[in-house]
Amino acid sequence: MRQPLIAGNWKMNGTKTSAEALLSGLVAGSVGISKAEIAVCPPFPYLALGERLLIGSSVRLGAQNVCTQDVGAYTGEVSALMLAEFGCHYVICGHSERREYYGETDSIIAEKLLACIKQQLTPILCVGETLQQREQEQTEAVIGTQLGNVIAQIGIDTFQKIEIAYEPVWAIGTGKTATPEQAQSVHYFIRQQLAKHDQIIAEKVRILYGGSMKASNAQDLLSQPDIDGGLVGGASLIVEDFLAICQAGDAVVL
Ligand code: PEP
Repeated sequence: MRQPLIAGNWKMNGTKTSAEALLSGLVAGSVGISKAEIAVCPPFPYLALGERLLIGSSVRLGAQNVCTQDVGAYTGEVSALMLAEFGCHYVICGHSERREYYGETDSIIAEKLLACIKQQLTPILCVGETLQQREQEQTEAVIGTQLGNVIAQIGIDTFQKIEIAYEPVWAIGTGKTATPEQAQSVHYFIRQQLAKHDQIIAEKVRILYGGSMKASNAQDLLSQPDIDGGLVGGASLIVEDFLAICQAGDAVVL
């Protein structure tokens, strides 16, 4: 069985004070959680705080974005080397909000994945369809293209070092969650797409679900055979809610 990973994506939320409280609460509350892996991705300015407060805990630190380039005149950007220096383990790449608001293409996202891997960071590659695409029954075509473009650019072997998050855009921050069956069906599809290239990698890669995951639906989602964790937005901002999801992740491990 793949170890569940529950990763919190704070997005652009919080203050120094709330970040400190959330991180400390997570450290204290994660003590009994040993089977699921926990990660938290605060905004860049709070990474140093995360590095300091998470020391000695099993909670891993992650970032929400990274530059495609290693160093140089790229105003406003943050490199993978910098993230590694601040103790990051994970980096969310290609979140739908970055695709939509910042024009990130599959090609840019593929470069970001490589930039992470070069610095021994583990990228979490996000894929997902919009409501319109789902209604037009294009879900598999869209996700097949998002994945296929990345595989064509960086190769299937790279997926040994990548986590995937299936995040239906219509479920992100909307309170609408994919049913466990809907999510499982897309997760299975993603694994099949990878298996066409390499069956062993397909079996090993973790595919997280993201989209209004909360304490009340986490266990049902996480019990599905191809759902290996969660990428959690809103519910990761409330320590009790996030810990309850982490506990659900722990509980599905036999
Ligand atoms: C996300 O932004 O990755 C996400 C899943 O958000 P939410 O849980 O709020 O839907």
